[in-house]
Amino acid sequence: MSIDITPQDLDFDRNHIWHPYSSLTNPLKVYPVTSADGSCLKLQDGRKIVDGMASWWCVQHGYNNPRLNGAVTKQLGLVSHVMFGGIVHKPAVDLCKSLVNMLPDSLECVVLADSGSIAIDVGMKMALQYYNAMKKPSKNKFLTIEKGFHGDAFGALSICDPNNSMHALYGGFVPQNLFSKAPEVYFHNQDPNVKKLVEELDVAPFAKLIQENHESLAGVVMESMVQGAGGLRIYHPHFLKRVRELCDEYDVLLILDEIATGLGRTGKLFAFEHAKIVPDIICLGKALTGGYMTLSATVSTREVSEGICKGPAGRLMHGQTFMGNPLACAVANENLAILAEGMWKEQVSRIEKQLFEELAPLAEHRNVAEVRILGAIGIVEVNKYPVRVEELQKRFIEAGAWIRPFNKWIYIYPIFTTSPDEIRVLINAIASVLDDL
Ligand SMILES: *Cc1c(COP(=O)(O)O)cnc(C)c1O
Repeated sequence: MSIDITPQDLDFDRNHIWHPYSSLTNPLKVYPVTSADGSCLKLQDGRKIVDGMASWWCVQHGYNNPRLNGAVTKQLGLVSHVMFGGIVHKPAVDLCKSLVNMLPDSLECVVLADSGSIAIDVGMKMALQYYNAMKKPSKNKFLTIEKGFHGDAFGALSICDPNNSMHALYGGFVPQNLFSKAPEVYFHNQDPNVKKLVEELDVAPFAKLIQENHESLAGVVMESMVQGAGGLRIYHPHFLKRVRELCDEYDVLLILDEIATGLGRTGKLFAFEHAKIVPDIICLGKALTGGYMTLSATVSTREVSEGICKGPAGRLMHGQTFMGNPLACAVANENLAILAEGMWKEQVSRIEKQLFEELAPLAEHRNVAEVRILGAIGIVEVNKYPVRVEELQKRFIEAGAWIRPFNKWIYIYPIFTTSPDEIRVLINAIASVLDDL
């Protein structure tokens, strides 16, 4: 059987298959990919393009990585899947051990799930069950910041930016939570009084909300340092530090979404290290398996997990069919083993340096509002938008790059192993379209 997509396949795709955030009746163009290797995707027409998206921020050590391939293949011959209820297996134990070892000491109890959205839902359920067990059942809402993105399950959706995530479309069904305004002060703000600025602009409105509502708050949930799909913003670490202090002061759990930022992406293993704080619950996903398979983890303190077990249910009321899938755990283990060897640090800082040298100057272009950079993340915010995705994507491919812009953001999250020449292909591709937005 051919692995090539036929014109009939494309017709079927167009008429029957929903792609992410797409129209079924007027879909954007899709490109058949036949294979991928290192930092490149191979299109069916034979072109090789540098993947600037790391497959939605998941791939770390390259496609078709021999070590990751080996981990999957080895596990495949043992057991691909087995229920996690009443059964345990080595890949799950090894993975959770690695996670607990990588994380700060206080984060030590792991729930495995099958996607980032569900990891967030699990974190929210943990906070609700915890305060229920603490006999504070009125603490049943969440506080977050605007411009956030936490996934598409309804719990996660209820804390996504209410304007970007189409809460209105789902009528009264989305749970009502509280939103503080998105932090404004940029990570690299050079103002000598930057902390004062953060206090006034970002901390003050947040502090007011938590002060006034803490009796009904189980948790603060937010992305750590970088707000991804909801606005591609990078905020100042002092804000996160103060959020931690306010959560402690008002007895609210801090749940950090590190699904996109965790495991090296921002130049630290976990983005919360920039603020020198530790959350009560952390959610990891995306890069956990190096981009091979879907898997997520929600890790809490012992206090939270033991607290939950003191409640009326005596246990966490969550369990899924593919919880702890052995194939996914095995490849995640190998991915974490590669991370533990530490090459990512040099790779990410080299990418960051190149972004500062070669992407940052695009800020001077008349159609660019701002360029933002942290670790292996480079964001060009344009001032003529929404961008024409299909047309830009066609031009990027002609320039040898896979970049998928949206709204006012043309951004890259390169694979850590991308070479300097390949990064340059991505940057040149972006530069080449700016005149014609
Ligand atoms: C992608 C993402 C999610 C959702 O993960 P899925 O695996 O798509 O469900 C949640 N939070 C952040 C910050 C993300 O980037």
